[in-house]
Amino acid sequence: MISEKRNLNWIGTIGLLLLLAACAAPIDSAALTAPSATRAASVTSALPATSQPTATIAPTKAIPTQTTSATVLPACTSPAALTLAQTEGPYYKAKSPERTALLEPGMGGTKLIVTGYVLTKDCQPIANAWLDFWQADDHGVYDNAGYRLRGHLFTDETGRFTLATILPGEYPGRTEHIHVKVQAPNGPILTTQLYFPGVAANDRDSIFDPALLADVQDTATGKVATFNFVVQP
Ligand code: FE
Repeated sequence: MISEKRNLNWIGTIGLLLLLAACAAPIDSAALTAPSATRAASVTSALPATSQPTATIAPTKAIPTQTTSATVLPACTSPAALTLAQTEGPYYKAKSPERTALLEPGMGGTKLIVTGYVLTKDCQPIANAWLDFWQADDHGVYDNAGYRLRGHLFTDETGRFTLATILPGEYPGRTEHIHVKVQAPNGPILTTQLYFPGVAANDRDSIFDPALLADVQDTATGKVATFNFVVQP
């Protein structure tokens, strides 16, 4: 009876020591209480940036895109009219370089940002739409030997595009204008031209159409022309 009581005391003592040892060990209370997803994130964030698995980075790329498209959608009333098509003219060259800036060192003229959205008639932004621009320089001269002031780009996930260039000059019979081709992925190609308000030569140009006037704002570094294209998807 006595030895049985001693055994029970030893077992009790060992149990108490184990409990004390467990209490003395540091405990990550956040790791214990956090949901499994948070725990995984805290473990991942402790790793060096270079060793983070691709699978962890991928979802974070999609989140800002959704937020951005929800906050910067352009003004548009459905059904929107398709953007007017105009003649290509004699100076188009295929296979222009992909770039968002046509500016080059030493290039004269007024700096111009051309920006806007490519939309469907339902006012839905079209991501990855192709826009191919070509224009004259500030003296009204096209580069037909190379690709100066020629370039194409694609709309981002929100359907937006931005091109840095210069204001084109006038040439005989033509007011200031920028040629552009626009195409939604797998859609038909729209060929048209953009114009600028307040240019006297607009009234003397038989091709000019006020439906293709960009909204132009002056900034400290030049001008910003905004135009939204509405195309068949
Ligand atoms: Fe032209």
